[in-house]
Amino acid sequence: MKRKKRVKVHFGNLIILIIIIGIGIFGIKVLYKQLNSDDTNNTNIENKIESDSIKDKLVNLGYSKSESEEIINNLDKEEIEKIDKKYDYLVEFSKIKYFHIENIERYINLKNKSDYSYDEIIMRVNTSIDKEFYTDIKTVDNPNDLLVLVNKFYALPSGIEPNDLIQVESVKMQREAGEALKEMATAMRNDGLKIILQSGYRSEDTQSYLYNRYVARDGKEEADTYSARPNHSEHQTGLAIDVSHDGTLEEYFEDTPQFEWLQDNAHKYGFILRYPKDKVYMTGYTYEPWHYRYVGIEVATLIKNENITFEEYYVKYKGLY
Ligand SMILES: [Zn+2]
Repeated sequence: MKRKKRVKVHFGNLIILIIIIGIGIFGIKVLYKQLNSDDTNNTNIENKIESDSIKDKLVNLGYSKSESEEIINNLDKEEIEKIDKKYDYLVEFSKIKYFHIENIERYINLKNKSDYSYDEIIMRVNTSIDKEFYTDIKTVDNPNDLLVLVNKFYALPSGIEPNDLIQVESVKMQREAGEALKEMATAMRNDGLKIILQSGYRSEDTQSYLYNRYVARDGKEEADTYSARPNHSEHQTGLAIDVSHDGTLEEYFEDTPQFEWLQDNAHKYGFILRYPKDKVYMTGYTYEPWHYRYVGIEVATLIKNENITFEEYYVKYKGLY
């Protein structure tokens, strides 16, 4: 009897304990849910307050409510923070993919003095060609990179040489570009085409000598259309090659089967036609059907397929502005 009673009491306690634990767990769950939904609510409210205050800021600067909303939709927070006054065409420009608020004044300037589309303006400003060539020159910090951009706005540091030059027939090239060039020349010859490697790597001194000679002969303005100033030549990188079928570098090269072959195949070896006929305004060089630049197969194929210059590639894929 005594034993039985004790067991009964134990059972009662156990049931009460289970009920208490049950209520406890339920309570914690409810509380947890409540806290979480408070968090979400708070975040929503915070976001709302923040976007309202950004909108207020834009409205205070002189943008209409709908303009402010569009700007908020088009730009991220960091960019909006840099808006410090009412800019003409900001709403239109902010819709364009490669827009950078840092360039807004230059976009507006070009808009005011041209009929270019908003897209065209952004591309021109981001590639610097709204400026005079050889002004605001920046020195590149990646001179040994296979994708280094060297043009009339971006210069190689003075006094450097490429890391790893190899001899390919009569020219020197950076190793990877040189190996690709060997393969390309072999493939052309296998297709029955004569090809001469005319000019590859040039030292800073050689480029200086050439440029000064051209300036003496034709004057600076003329020389600048076809010869690069020292440290602005792709030939100094060891990644550029001039090819020829007859030992000359003349525009009639474009009428040769060699040129046709290069049009169809250069990208398969990682080379691009660097100074195309229709992009003289952007590259700053007259059409050079003989000048090819090594960028690797992937990038060369992309540039060919999109029919863009290396500068445009930089804006679209490397964030240049
Ligand atoms: Zn060249």
